Amino acid sequence: MTMAHLPDAHWLHRPGFDALCEILGAGNGAVRIVGGAVRDGLLGLDVHDIDLATRLTPEDVIARLSDAGIKVVPTGLAHGTVTAVLDHRPVEITTLRCDVSTDGRRATVAYTSDWKEDAARRDFTINALYADPATGEIFDYFGGLDDLTHRRVRFIGNADQRIAEDHLRILRYFRFLARFGALPPDERAFAACTRNANSLMALSRERIADEVLKLLALPDPSAVIDLMLMGGIFAPVLPEISKVGLEQLKALIAREQQFQLSRPPSAVLRLAALLPQDPQIGELVAARLKLSNKTRKRIAAAMTPPPLHGNNRELVYRLGMETALDILLLGHATPDSDLPALEKWSPPEFPINGRDIMSLGISAGPDVARLLATVRDQWIAEGFCDADRVRAIAADQVSGFRRDSQNS
Ligand code: ATP
Ligand code: MG
Repeated sequence: MTMAHLPDAHWLHRPGFDALCEILGAGNGAVRIVGGAVRDGLLGLDVHDIDLATRLTPEDVIARLSDAGIKVVPTGLAHGTVTAVLDHRPVEITTLRCDVSTDGRRATVAYTSDWKEDAARRDFTINALYADPATGEIFDYFGGLDDLTHRRVRFIGNADQRIAEDHLRILRYFRFLARFGALPPDERAFAACTRNANSLMALSRERIADEVLKLLALPDPSAVIDLMLMGGIFAPVLPEISKVGLEQLKALIAREQQFQLSRPPSAVLRLAALLPQDPQIGELVAARLKLSNKTRKRIAAAMTPPPLHGNNRELVYRLGMETALDILLLGHATPDSDLPALEKWSPPEFPINGRDIMSLGISAGPDVARLLATVRDQWIAEGFCDADRVRAIAADQVSGFRRDSQNS
């Protein structure tokens, strides 16, 4: 495979993209496509987000785009980024920069006109490839093309130092490894991540959660999670994740693949699978990761085994579709063969109400509700039978009730 040129693809012809590049000086080499778009474009993958790197200052970029009537938003001026909006979709434009000082969490930046300096502050060689938007020519300063061909994820420069600059790179490393890498991993990168795992404690829980969920959203991250467990990566921040959890994750992914639901695999549910199946632990971890209340509840509900003996439809009726599917996919209830059919099913309305019970001769009061609940249980047990059958059940229950009350 020759990869010296970016292959032509649909995303390069997004409306307005050519004009944007021209305005930023593509003709004289002042702007290049960089990062994920180049990497994914070379691999022939779909590209959604385009990042541009430019020698122009952010002020110059803003002025040129405004003059041309292109909407521009100063999304990250502090680190040299503005966002152009083309056809309602963003293109990030970042002035070439080098990181002057870093404390592991944020960087102080300076602008440069040197492409290689800009490449050097990026994390992995495969993320530091540039393409000339006019010609498709690729610029590779750190062996990223070769690494991409061989599916190697390598830090640019000294891995320990790069992790000391930004601890999040440990988690990014495993995410890109799961996405693009072949195993076994680059030994130096893996060893550096292992050695520096404790530095993850200095990161905000939100950033950790965000990265971990991105990793878990990949098609099958289990081999990389196994590696992370071996490297003690989770121990400082998510010690609840263990080999047992990994086996649960694998079982979940196997069920996802078996059933092919229209609902896509959920990173949140996969996180739940990695934890001990105890709703209190689920809540605790979700709170630590500052996940939303809704997500916290989802994790705890997925871990709570249902107190029911009935069928899967009963689960949906009583707990709602999302929780029911979560519980079934986690293996806390036996998924009978047809989860896709279950996913399409929606519970019918219970065909009778309190008035129907009263019309059978029960006077208003708690007995009505009690009888109604009994009838409903039987309706569920009989697989949500039709209205005629429910009325027959109601009549039976009511006459049984009256017999009992006469006898007592
Ligand atoms: P994705 O498809 O996941 O968005 P991406 O390569 O576009 O992949 P981003 O996180 O969007 O990744 O970042 C864009 C680029 O910015 C990366 O390709 C990389 O060059 C650089 N970058 C992002 N985060 C870091 C970081 N923490 N340290 C160094 N460089 C980074
Ligand atoms: Mg991106």
